[in-house]
Amino acid sequence: MHYSEIYENKTKNSKAIFNKLKNIMPGGISHNLRFYEPYPVVMTKGKGSEIFDVDDNVYKDLWMGHYSHIAGHAPDFITKANELTIPDGTHLGTVNPYELELAEKIKKHVPSIEMLRFCTSGTEANMYAIRLARGYTQKELVVKMAGGWHGAGSELSRAIKYPYQNGVSGIFKKIHNLTQYIYFNDIERSFEILQQFKDNIACIILEPVIGEGGFLPANIEFLHFLREQCSKMNSLLIFDEVITGFRLGLSGAQGKFNVIPDLTTMGKIAGGGFNIGIVGGKKEIMELSSPFYRGDNKVLIGGGTFSATPYTMRAGFEMIKFLENKKDEIFKELNEKGEYVRSRISDFILSNNINAVVTGTDSLYMIHFPYEKGVQIKTPEDIGAKTDIYKRENEFKVRLLNEGLHVMHGGGAISYAHSYEDLDFIIEKTCKVLDEMK
Ligand code: PLP
Repeated sequence: MHYSEIYENKTKNSKAIFNKLKNIMPGGISHNLRFYEPYPVVMTKGKGSEIFDVDDNVYKDLWMGHYSHIAGHAPDFITKANELTIPDGTHLGTVNPYELELAEKIKKHVPSIEMLRFCTSGTEANMYAIRLARGYTQKELVVKMAGGWHGAGSELSRAIKYPYQNGVSGIFKKIHNLTQYIYFNDIERSFEILQQFKDNIACIILEPVIGEGGFLPANIEFLHFLREQCSKMNSLLIFDEVITGFRLGLSGAQGKFNVIPDLTTMGKIAGGGFNIGIVGGKKEIMELSSPFYRGDNKVLIGGGTFSATPYTMRAGFEMIKFLENKKDEIFKELNEKGEYVRSRISDFILSNNINAVVTGTDSLYMIHFPYEKGVQIKTPEDIGAKTDIYKRENEFKVRLLNEGLHVMHGGGAISYAHSYEDLDFIIEKTCKVLDEMK
């Protein structure tokens, strides 16, 4: 039977719901990554390493709430904490004591963060970070990595998908002209571009492990180069640690690589499974947003009806406490599990002469389908230009769903709830599907 027929037989209720959704929401979705062909599976519940759909199918999950659930879906310590918080009011719209507790924990662990503000998404955090950089430096240009994703804010929506074009419908070229891009891990090409614009660069923003770019980690030389260039140009270095924060360790990528940015943005894990964004950094920069600040370059940040809700603050606090309690084992174990999956799938690919490539680091991985054999994936552009993303996001995904595996970009994020039994299941099913697609 064709794989899409198997899928349709298995997911009848998903199809019926999605047919109604697409009449009421463009594409039937509220996040573009959630659509794939022929229609996405509609999920109702997650627990531990598993996720359940409206047809009572169960899947091992690797998407884990956009990589948020490092302790698995719905861990008891989070649901219990919010049984205490929610009955006292979901949101008081005022200062609450839990935000102090969470802020202190984040400041304690993340080396660049002397002060911070909470908001509700990584998108919002990045929007504020670049505004702070412009206010502080009084310069105009934002520099990002080609292939970097920082949320859907207008200024950072340039150069995401290959081939990178300037200006897209709804975002004018004159906005995108204020965003330049350089090349991840390519010092030579990046230096040339920075030289062109060096007097007017407010900030360079990057993910130290580039998410959309195959979870490729930045070279340490590249990070030192950016740090040095920012210092020379009087520009700010911003790390977007929305994915890496509390995943690469309690101090994030900056702790792991020992390169300290001026500003850091975070989200995902830090909210304990609830909506969060964090922008933080040097006191003298963050203070520009304070109501007490009297200078001319005061920066507006901090709207957000639902910023710092008690339940998010409490959940984030419990999540970090959980990671602190297990710090000696959890990151090591997650990384070993990541390596276990990556190496076994890679070995299978090699020994069976399959045209696929595994990339990733720590507990993160992706699988790509190069158009030609022997292609190596060293940069985000390699993925955009040389691999079949459509095949990965549709056929591979649906075939894996048929086998009881829910992935994103061919892989995902391993959590503490994933046992070695789960990983063996993931490896077996992935290899089976890779073989079928050969
Ligand atoms: N930055 C990175 C690196 C991300 O991966 C994401 C989301 O996936 C964002 C920013 C945007 O965060 P949010 O989806 O919470 O707006």
